Amino acid sequence: MGRLRIATVWLGGCSGCHMSFLDLDEFLIELAGKVDLVYSPVIDVKEYPEGVDVCLIEGAVCNQDNLELLLDIRERTRVLVSFGDCAVTGNVPAIRNQLGPRSCENVLQCAYIDNAQANQRVPSKDGIVPKLLDRVRPIHEVVGVEAYLPGCPPSAARIRALLDCVLEGRPPQLEGEMLRFG
Ligand code: SF4
Repeated sequence: MGRLRIATVWLGGCSGCHMSFLDLDEFLIELAGKVDLVYSPVIDVKEYPEGVDVCLIEGAVCNQDNLELLLDIRERTRVLVSFGDCAVTGNVPAIRNQLGPRSCENVLQCAYIDNAQANQRVPSKDGIVPKLLDRVRPIHEVVGVEAYLPGCPPSAARIRALLDCVLEGRPPQLEGEMLRFG
């Protein structure tokens, strides 16, 4: 097997899972020597590429942009890892589901009108605020995933354990997780 093509993606999350990824510290240098990072918030690539071996997805599916990107990712990726509690369960962003069918309006009202210091209005131009989905969903409710890495955020040690398995092409040993290759 050649160098693995790895991606990390940030959907509806707080970036804390990626901060934990960066806490891998000097292991990141070792990792960079063994894999190609082909898409991530930490590099400047605009389009999710074809032929990705493994992708860690942070965050839940909250809006139309998240949904469209996730469908492309699934088509172009061999192994998807649901990365962190927002991806695995919906977690914090899914709290708005408790507001029921009017959750989108309530969230936008709260963010752009009730708590705005000036210019109280919801942005309406295309491309400014992606359309919110009626319900926030965890990744596996939208596409199949091969592995779950829970935690809010998962610790760097747990991310390292998973990446070690990925690099060695063996199933993760962490409880409740499964990673298939081939
Ligand atoms: S799981 Fe926790 S740390 Fe990760 S994106 Fe969600 S809230 Fe942030």
